Amino acid sequence: MEKEISKYSHIRNEMVKKQIEARGITDARVIKAMKKVPRHLFVNEALTDQAYGDFPLPIGDQQTISQPYIVSEMTQALTLSEKDRVLEIGTGSGYQTAILAEIVYRVYTIERIHDLYIRARRLFDKFKYHNIVTRYSDGTSGWKDESPFDAIIVTAGAPAIPQPLINQLAIGGRMVIPVGNRYVQEMIKIYKDEDGITQTSLGGCRFVKLIGEHGWTIN
Ligand code: SAM
Repeated sequence: MEKEISKYSHIRNEMVKKQIEARGITDARVIKAMKKVPRHLFVNEALTDQAYGDFPLPIGDQQTISQPYIVSEMTQALTLSEKDRVLEIGTGSGYQTAILAEIVYRVYTIERIHDLYIRARRLFDKFKYHNIVTRYSDGTSGWKDESPFDAIIVTAGAPAIPQPLINQLAIGGRMVIPVGNRYVQEMIKIYKDEDGITQTSLGGCRFVKLIGEHGWTIN
């Protein structure tokens, strides 16, 4: 497996230099994780050679693995530390989950498509990510039993910020979530303190739909 991982290490370092650092990502923990996690093993074998390109890729079931820069931007925006417990909505390929797991104490991740959930679980086992806890359900209701979370990341576009996720964020907690219509969204960063939440925009983005009770309906 070591050989499988190291095969693309040169290309991975180039990706970090040209797509991540050159665009202003400075968090050393994010950069270290992006240099380490073998993105090419989180995509379909037929797409291996494109895995380090500056774009999202299909992962099946009409879903996508996000562009590397977007993964780094969202991760940096969460200002993570090694003691943090993080909730991720939208496991997808599991790549973003692995990046988080390299940085924090524990990641709780939820996926609503069974095939993707199973595939990601197998990868977490393969790479021995013992600090990732997975769940197959509608993530728009969060994971109440394990709350509050130091950080929450939503990797699908929502019509509005789901209230259960705000409720399950710790005081001092941070959340990033794309919010907008079905075609274009704004990446919102939320900070929660005793007085409530503060929102800032990180700019425009385009994600697949967050589908569920507190998101979009299927059609
Ligand atoms: N972070 C992922 C990665 O690195 O591959 C990319 C995720 S993809 C852009 C969005 C994912 O969110 C899809 O896998 C989709 O099925 C999932 N999703 C959408 N609505 C969801 C919900 N309510 N609960 C859990 N997952 C959801």
